[in-house]
Amino acid sequence: MTSELRGQVAIVTGSTSGIGLGLAEALAAAGVNIVLNGLGDAAAIEATRAGLAARHGVEVRYHGADMTRPAEIAGLVASTTAAFGRLDILVNNAGIQHVSPVEDFPLDAWDRIIAINLSSVFHASRAAIPAMKAAGRGRIVNIASAHALVASPFKSAYVAAKHGVAGFTKSAALELATSGVTVNAICPGYVKTPLVEAQIADQARTRGISEEAVMRDVILAAQPTKQFVTVEQLAGLLLYLCAGAGASVNGAILSVDGGWTAA
Ligand code: NAD
Repeated sequence: MTSELRGQVAIVTGSTSGIGLGLAEALAAAGVNIVLNGLGDAAAIEATRAGLAARHGVEVRYHGADMTRPAEIAGLVASTTAAFGRLDILVNNAGIQHVSPVEDFPLDAWDRIIAINLSSVFHASRAAIPAMKAAGRGRIVNIASAHALVASPFKSAYVAAKHGVAGFTKSAALELATSGVTVNAICPGYVKTPLVEAQIADQARTRGISEEAVMRDVILAAQPTKQFVTVEQLAGLLLYLCAGAGASVNGAILSVDGGWTAA
């Protein structure tokens, strides 16, 4: 299924860390050329870029577009199509979190979460769609969250943004349905990445309980399997959606959450 992806080109936003980096690795292993994006130390990013390219024998570039800046997001897509002459896969993955009661929620944290977690999905898709439509084929995969379907307290901006991503996914999928371009959302439960590790500390502070209690009673309490979701499990679904076998999956909000949203 994955050999058919060889030679394709993918942008993965927020791929210097966590889920995005793991998804970029899985696409590269399937022979897909990659454009990495995200924040971080320049030398560490260059080491990641070079390592991916060497391990998988694909071309890997990096573009530092800030996902709060629409012009930079458009530049990320334009530089990719200019360099490779094609764009087959867009994974909208960049995301941040802030945990706070609504009445104390810092205004800049609200604005950054809406910009990075929701608006960047629109801006990147808007820029990518013309090339995909012209090619008659494309895949847009939005990394949403179980919080696209259900809520938790103290995460109002994140939950609002991720519900927005689900709505955007369905609307864009309907628009593009006859074009060969599919738009879907993957909704992970908890994956142990730097984003979740930071939340363990934040939640402990906000709730006034220990980090061990947050892991046991808050995070894995929501996940019926009592297991963290792995990046490899998310990558398996991404590769399926990108393959020809996934062509009829369109506008789907796909849970990979150990049963969390079945409750
Ligand atoms: P992470 O913190 O490990 O990685 C986030 C990535 O986004 C990093 O590469 C970071 O540099 C990038 N980023 C942040 N701000 C950016 C900006 N302004 N411009 C460009 N890039 C920026 O987080 P993660 O856990 O890997 O999360 C990735 C995605 O998965 C997010 O959308 C998150 O909401 C979603 N998600 C994560 C979990 C989880 O449990 N980890 C669960 C459900 C959904």
